[in-house]
Amino acid sequence: MEMHAQTLTELAAGLEKGDFTSLELTQALLDRIAAHNDKLNAFITVTADEALAAATRADTARSKGGGGVLNGLPIIHKDIFCTRGIKTTCGSKMLDNFISPYDATVVERLADAGAVVLGKANMDEFAMGSSNETSYFGPVRNPWNLECSPGGSSGGSSASVAARFAPAATGTDTGGSIRQPAALTGTVGIKPTYGRVSRYGMIAFASSLDQAGVITRSSEDAARLLGVMAGFDERDSTSIDQPVPDYLAGIAHSIKGLRVGIVREHFDAGLEEETGKKVKEAIAVLKALGATTVEVSLPNLNLSVPTYYVVAPAECSSNLSRFDGVRFGYRAENAEDLLDLYCRSRGEGFGDEVKRRIMTGTYVLSAGYYDAYYLKAQRVRKLIADDFRKAFAEVDVIAGPTAPSPAFKLGDKVDDPIQMYLNDIYTIGANLAGLPAMSVPCGFVDKLPVGLHLVGAHFDEETLLRCAHQYQQETDWHTACPEAFK
Ligand code: GLN
Repeated sequence: MEMHAQTLTELAAGLEKGDFTSLELTQALLDRIAAHNDKLNAFITVTADEALAAATRADTARSKGGGGVLNGLPIIHKDIFCTRGIKTTCGSKMLDNFISPYDATVVERLADAGAVVLGKANMDEFAMGSSNETSYFGPVRNPWNLECSPGGSSGGSSASVAARFAPAATGTDTGGSIRQPAALTGTVGIKPTYGRVSRYGMIAFASSLDQAGVITRSSEDAARLLGVMAGFDERDSTSIDQPVPDYLAGIAHSIKGLRVGIVREHFDAGLEEETGKKVKEAIAVLKALGATTVEVSLPNLNLSVPTYYVVAPAECSSNLSRFDGVRFGYRAENAEDLLDLYCRSRGEGFGDEVKRRIMTGTYVLSAGYYDAYYLKAQRVRKLIADDFRKAFAEVDVIAGPTAPSPAFKLGDKVDDPIQMYLNDIYTIGANLAGLPAMSVPCGFVDKLPVGLHLVGAHFDEETLLRCAHQYQQETDWHTACPEAFK
């Protein structure tokens, strides 16, 4: 099999056996990116020189019998993770010239394990979006159909993995930004429990919801990477000091007896019919593997989108106040005074969606409206979390659709924010409740991939990965490759 077609796990074996070197592998993928990225616009920065140097170091380490668990394996970082000495834009004009003086913990841990970074992936501006169309660097295209969106905000990451530019990419998920793009591109995406992976050096959007994770083609690869990324970090005050299980060992176990919750409210009017059928077929596979299904109810789930669109903008308005034209990034020219400098720098540096969120967020936090909006949203958030808690007393995982339909056309929803926001209706609940969740490819509708969504109890990524891995042993949706990228 050609190198680009292999999973991370297969590539690790190839490197170990000496079938190829990391330098050969890295060069082959960089060539592929150079030849095909124009079609997708998946990258903001390609770090060819740094990648080749890292690959050479990995080969040297291996020849001496050393190197970490990911030694010489190529990955891509979403451009929201700070990388020392390499531009980190967060998809915004505001940070178009920002070079971080330090690495994010995720970047550091993967590098310490020997991973080779091919570049920084395109994304929605400040991770706000579901289609990658809010990026200052232009939309990303879906490898399955170039007229369609690859999802967002981690659209550069999902498109890159689907197009075989790299076997894996990092992503972040505040309301669905790992799982929805994974579903729309036929890849695997996991958002761990809030607090499981350090947010240090990950540019903040909504701090109580943001969580880092990965996009891969197999759950085995996701388990491999998550094991490296996860774990306590004293530099993130919300990072939790809990032991990280051996995810790779965990996935091998059968799912016989696993209790799978099916949410009554998931299969209602909002779900496109064919997508629903594929999800039901996937659940039937889990049953054939020995799982049992239990109907559960999440009565407040229909409030998750409105709740999120109060909480997330509120936090973003606060987080993004640091971009003032003085300390980071873009600065407007010819300002008349300090206030004018702030106003012009923010007015020129941020795109429309970011401004919409900052204004909404400032409004819901303002003295007269705080109780009516922000406080109420926090209360509803608690109700949603309670619904999940009750459900997890009866089941081990909850299964349903990741997104209401397959990939939509670029341009279709940009003028209608509400329609765009509704794309995350199935994913947002897990962020509000801080739960781990993942998307696994489960079929095609009109030649476009759809995803099965799995949500787990707090800190139980292991069950999600195991369930997904066992499903992938029985199915081959995840091995399908878009025709133009074979
Ligand atoms: N699409 C959602 C939003 O626009 C979620 C984004 C995310 O998870 N970063 O806010």
